[in-house]
Amino acid sequence: MTYETVRATDPAVAEALEGERARQNDTLAMIASENHVSEAVMEAQSSELTNNYAEGYPGERYYGGCEYADDVEQLAIDRATELWGADHVNVQPHSGSQANMGVYLAALEPGDKILSLDLTHGGHLSHGHPANFAGQVYEVEQYEVDAETGYVDYEGLRETAESFDPDIIVSGYSAYPREVDFERIQATADAVDAYHLADIAHITGLVAAGVHESPVGIADFVTGSTHKTIRAGRGGIIMCDEEYASDIDSAVFPGAQGGPAMHNVAGKAVGFGEALEPEFERYAEQTVANAKALGDRLQEHGLDLVSGGTDNHLVLVDLRPSHPDTTGKEVEESLEEAGIVLNANTVPGETRSAFNPSGIRAGTPCLTTRGFGEEACREVADLIYDVVDAPHDDDVVAEVSQRVDELTDEYTLYD
Ligand SMILES: *Cc1c(COP(=O)(O)O)cnc(C)c1O
Repeated sequence: MTYETVRATDPAVAEALEGERARQNDTLAMIASENHVSEAVMEAQSSELTNNYAEGYPGERYYGGCEYADDVEQLAIDRATELWGADHVNVQPHSGSQANMGVYLAALEPGDKILSLDLTHGGHLSHGHPANFAGQVYEVEQYEVDAETGYVDYEGLRETAESFDPDIIVSGYSAYPREVDFERIQATADAVDAYHLADIAHITGLVAAGVHESPVGIADFVTGSTHKTIRAGRGGIIMCDEEYASDIDSAVFPGAQGGPAMHNVAGKAVGFGEALEPEFERYAEQTVANAKALGDRLQEHGLDLVSGGTDNHLVLVDLRPSHPDTTGKEVEESLEEAGIVLNANTVPGETRSAFNPSGIRAGTPCLTTRGFGEEACREVADLIYDVVDAPHDDDVVAEVSQRVDELTDEYTLYD
């Protein structure tokens, strides 16, 4: 992508866009929820479909002029159906949070009860945090991960479900490094007669590629993001059985949203098409292998990983056992100075605040897109460790920064 046209009319915005491209090219993105989409996805996202009003669904629009919007949305739906195998797919949610909103609107009444994982244990704001609409409209109870093992406390979840009697149980998490046992959570949902929403936002691509168990066909509703482990650009998706199809569609539009962002739906169609290529399965496998290599190496340096390792694309480091006086925020800031971008994160049993927590979360989706293999990820673990161990040593930060420059030159990204 070049920004020549923007530059000609709006140099200030062009400056920022070019700055962002250079930033992505020249740093190692390890935010576990991010990825780098292809030029084809970006081109589709910047198409004339941004002009189009396509309220409704393919073949049933409220406005004229939707024949190509219909084509694009149908392609996105058909490809998603092939990727995840759901009976019904809605590709219109603007984001993963809006996808969850659609499910709540379809399945719940105001005042109904949500049972979800505590945010500081790896849950998500849209699962009923008081700062999110879901926490204000519904009654929310939380389950946790086991303090010892770091795995979801499935037994505790069942006990809480029996006493709280939820209308919906939410599984799927933002900072959870282990495989989720969707069948076990479904059994609990069945036992208390609750719906089960499996929010696979982080692992959408891993599930599509078959490297994580799929909740499709198990949970009543499955929501996902299209920009995390799958490279289809920013957005959300909802999947469900045919029996909920019309409720979900009317909950998304007109329930939660107006006209769909058809240019982003075009991005989804292109990204889903790419994910249907055999190469994507190798990408997803490599993403997981890379996270394991990263985690193993961090452990060899003596760092403590929540749950002792990873099954997916991310690791969560609890700094307290090895570096009790170092906070996640300090490490995040020093690493960013060195060109490695990840985020400070709360850890189970957090003793600091959400703004300055005791952990860091690191993911491999972006590095794997750049072409990193396990050996390179082990080296990145060494670099991260160097900064964790001396976050305020300018020489260390400068040395890491130099090595990051070499790595970003070797593993190129956007032209
Ligand atoms: C990222 C994420 C979402 C969606 O977030 P958006 O920013 O709204 O796309 C939803 N649920 C979980 C568990 C997530 O990690």
